[in-house]
Amino acid sequence: MKVLIADDELISRMITKAAVEQSGHECIVAVDGDSAWELFQVHSPEAVVTDLMMPGMNGLDLCRAIRSAEDESYTYVILVTSHGSREDVLAGMDAGADDYVTKPLDPFNLHIRLLAAQRITSLHADLARYRSALTEQARTDPLTKLHNRLKLTEDLAGLHTSARPGDYCLAMVDVDNFKSYNDLYGHQAGDAALATIASTLAAEVRASDAVYRFGGEEFLLVLRDQTSSGAEVVLERVRSAVHALQIEHSGDPDGVLTISAGVAAYTEGHRAGTEQLLKEADLALYAAKASGRNRVAVSTQGSSPN
Ligand code: GH3
Ligand code: MG
Ligand code: MG
Repeated sequence: MKVLIADDELISRMITKAAVEQSGHECIVAVDGDSAWELFQVHSPEAVVTDLMMPGMNGLDLCRAIRSAEDESYTYVILVTSHGSREDVLAGMDAGADDYVTKPLDPFNLHIRLLAAQRITSLHADLARYRSALTEQARTDPLTKLHNRLKLTEDLAGLHTSARPGDYCLAMVDVDNFKSYNDLYGHQAGDAALATIASTLAAEVRASDAVYRFGGEEFLLVLRDQTSSGAEVVLERVRSAVHALQIEHSGDPDGVLTISAGVAAYTEGHRAGTEQLLKEADLALYAAKASGRNRVAVSTQGSSPN
């Protein structure tokens, strides 16, 4: 473990440092609370062993600062108090300390507390890893490995909390005559086709763009810094790439699986919100379907009047 020691007294600082090193841990040493706080932010130690009384930031202040700065990681804090001061111990635990040792420091006492610290901090690290894996899993579609609608909702909201979302486009993509594909080739073949189409969509857009599985055989593309004519070019390329996959579909007039797309553009000052934009993309998709499928339609609703 990386252990930060904070003590303003040279002798007790040396004793604590020797004990921590003897326990096999890496040591960072601070000569007062303020420098401990600075070193804490630079080194992110797993454990802190701090004196209570120090000029400037004292041990309690340091505890509170550490606790309020924590997000995913956990720091195990051990207070070094003078012998017999129960009030100090209570105040320390109240400020966020995990344990305490009394002066004069017994290296064995500190050693066993650092063993507990190791166990607790590694448990917290495991939890943080699981939490982030679950967060990602909840936002990922297992079939296509694309992000799902939950992530889309969050990303769209995030786009509008930034000061200027910039001009961007949404494109709703839907696989043509997919029900009959399932009927003709089976659900498993349908699943495989969806996964192939999903990776083709993802491969055809820029790294700053995003592709989501909206639901069923529908996908949603968010194209950043893109005008509607630019987005139309992208979607035309995507449409043609899916056609080029040549996935046989005898129930489709083209003989292969194709997609249709509806594009809607967000332009600064012209828009109510993303819900409206999604509706417009959906209406454009409907128009693309109505005019024969395997094509891209752009919504005209959001166009600037001039
Ligand atoms: P259109 O060209 O108008 O879009 O016709 P369509 O047949 O594609 O549209 P419809 O909405 O009637 O059918 C969609 C089909 O997509 C029905 C559904 O079973 C299939 N589907 C949705 N999700 C999945 C999936 O995860 N796997 C498979 N294999 N099929 C799916
Ligand atoms: Mg469809
Ligand atoms: Mg559909």
